[in-house]
This record gives sequence, structure tokens and C-alpha cells, in this order.
Amino acid sequence: MIIQLHNINKTYYSAAPLHVLKGINLGIEAGEMVSIMGASGSGKSTLLNILGILDTYDTGEYLLNGQLISNLSESRAAEYRNRLIGFIFQSFNLITFKNAMENVALPLYYQGIRRKKRNVVAMEYLDMVGLRDWADHMPNELSGGQKQRVAIARALIAQPKIILADEPTGALDSVTTEEVIALLRKVNQERGMTMIIVTHEASVANATDKIIRLRDGLIENIEAPHHV
Ligand code: ADP
Ligand code: MG
Repeated sequence: MIIQLHNINKTYYSAAPLHVLKGINLGIEAGEMVSIMGASGSGKSTLLNILGILDTYDTGEYLLNGQLISNLSESRAAEYRNRLIGFIFQSFNLITFKNAMENVALPLYYQGIRRKKRNVVAMEYLDMVGLRDWADHMPNELSGGQKQRVAIARALIAQPKIILADEPTGALDSVTTEEVIALLRKVNQERGMTMIIVTHEASVANATDKIIRLRDGLIENIEAPHHV
């Protein structure tokens, strides 16, 4: 198992304490593509952020690739994140003043790879997502679907073991949604990359291997998708 969660609990202490995750038990095998569904506020993003070591949990155990993720220093957390995880967000999170190629190349910049080399690799990934001809366009010159494909290329370029996507098609129309999910499915199948996708859309969830339903901070059930 690449991901093992044992009785994960998380409370936010803002105005009044909010017990958001109430004992999550979950195992995900390497190469699986799963979706997480649930009402707004059910804890989906909190769970994904804990999986991505962007947030901490209070009690329980999280094993990532066999390694206990607990009380890590920020530099250790960043090291695991950079080596193991690629992120995709609803709002793309591209850097507005960098072109498509530079956005894709960014993770390699953080690895200290020199410009010429990282741009060559970025072009390969842009090609893979069908955007070779758009390399020198700025994000505001791209459609929503194109922006998300740039973000996918950026998530893949460091060759992570896991992709975590929080409502990746939430800002896209239905045709573009299908294209983006087909691309993620292809990457999952061809590279065996583990994918965890939070979504509100049944069509997206049904394209995954397994649907995990969260309700009030607990896993309500795990079901097979309906193939249409
Ligand atoms: P979902 O992604 O399923 O909509 P979230 O995990 O974002 O749910 O949020 C679960 C609950 O926790 C919500 O009630 C939300 O308002 C609250 N919450 C999320 N993040 C924080 C935070 N940083 N501080 C306080 N409360 C938070
Ligand atoms: Mg959310």
C-alpha cells in the first residue's frame, strides 16, 4: 500500500473547535485511481491536504510509502512532497507572469536543474498533454482546459508517485472535464501513477476505480463506479 491511514482525527481550533475528520481508515494501493466524494464541508480537502503533507493530523497514523508521516519539520515535509506528490487544483494555480513552458518547468527549478535542461523536459511534458504549440503563451491566453493541462504537466514533471487533485474539473465545462479526466486516466494507466481525485461530479467519480464517500468526517462507504 502506498497510502495507509489508521484512525486519523483532525480538529480545527478556530472560534469553536471543529472536529473535521473523526477516525479515517483507508488504504490505497500503488497504481490505483480513486475518487473522494461528499457534501461540501465533509472534510474532503482536509483529508487531501493531510495526504499531501500540506496539513497535519492530531491523532492516528499516516504511512506514506511505508514512512510514518508525523511531526515532520517543514524541510522534511517539503522533501517528501517534492519527491512523492504532484498537486492539481480547481483554480489551476499557474504563475501568471510565466509562460506555459516555464510553469511546467517550475518543479525542476526547485530541484536545481539548469534552465536549458528543464525547458527541454518541460517541452516533452507539454507535448504529452497536447500543448507543444502553446509553450510561449501566458496563462491568461489559455482556455480553462488548457490551463489545467499545463497544471497536469507541471504536476507530472518531477515524476511523483501520487497525484492529488482537489476538484480538478470544478471550473471546467463538461466536454473539457471529459478531456482532462481522460488525460489523467491515461497517465494512470501508462505510468501506473496513483491518483486521488476529489470531485462533486458523478461523471468524474465514475471514471475512477473506486469511489470513497465521506460524510461528516467519516468514510461512509467505498463503492465501485457505475460504468456507462
Ligand atoms: P470539503 O473540502 O469537503 O468541502 P473541508 O475539508 O474544506 O471540506 O472543510 C471541512 C470543514 O472544516 C468545513 O466546515 C470548513 O469550514 C472547516 N475548515 C476547513 N479548513 C479550516 C481551517 N483552516 N480552519 C478552520 N476551519 C476549517
Ligand atoms: Mg474542498
